[in-house]
Amino acid sequence: MRKPMIAGNWKLHKTVEEALDLVEALKDELTGIDDADIIVAPVFTALGKVAETLSGSNISLAAQNCYPEKTGAFTGEVSPMLLKDIGCRYVIVGHSERRQLFGESDEFINRKIHSLLEEELQPIFCIGETLEERENGRMYDILTRQVKEGLKGMEAAAMRNIVIAYEPVWAIGTGKTATDEQAAEAHAFIRGLLQGVFDQETADATRILYGGSVKPENVDGLMAQDDIDGALVGGASLKAPDFARIVRFKRN
Ligand code: PEP
Repeated sequence: MRKPMIAGNWKLHKTVEEALDLVEALKDELTGIDDADIIVAPVFTALGKVAETLSGSNISLAAQNCYPEKTGAFTGEVSPMLLKDIGCRYVIVGHSERRQLFGESDEFINRKIHSLLEEELQPIFCIGETLEERENGRMYDILTRQVKEGLKGMEAAAMRNIVIAYEPVWAIGTGKTATDEQAAEAHAFIRGLLQGVFDQETADATRILYGGSVKPENVDGLMAQDDIDGALVGGASLKAPDFARIVRFKRN
């Protein structure tokens, strides 16, 4: 069985003080929930203090990005080793904002995933097509390329520590959620890809999250789909009651 995972991507929001207020509220709202992995991904500057506040709670810490090298002359970058040192357990990689705004390639994302696994950190590996790609009938090609290139050189056993997030770019931050059927279809396709690249057992065991305008109003329908194992949540993760409601999605 795949344990559900709900992860909040705070993007470039919240001072340290605001971040601490939010995690205190989340700790209160989410006490005792142990049937889902709950994750928050604050900005780099808040990670240390948030890690201290989350210590001993049922909420884990993620970073939003990393650089694949451990140390060295890479001004402005942060490595998996340093993220582990500060208390992160997960790192988001390949987010469409990084692909689109910062020109990150599949090859670069692949290096990050290898580097995270070496530090025993768990990548949350984002993939997804743009609206143009979907409308031009290229969605399956794009997902295939992103999965194959992003996971290049990976052993099947490594997939135990990798979470995939399917995030159609046209649904991120736009308020336009994929319908339950659209999301379910893409997730089933991605699981099929994993079966082809690895094997059935690996495909069945890998968690695939949906991301793209997930909110309290649509989470139950999405989570009812067989191949949707959780959510990567942007905007709605910035308000404790909304994120808590998403974590408390309707169990079957
Ligand atoms: C995201 O940041 O990964 C995301 C899905 O954002 P939003 O929920 O705001 O669409």
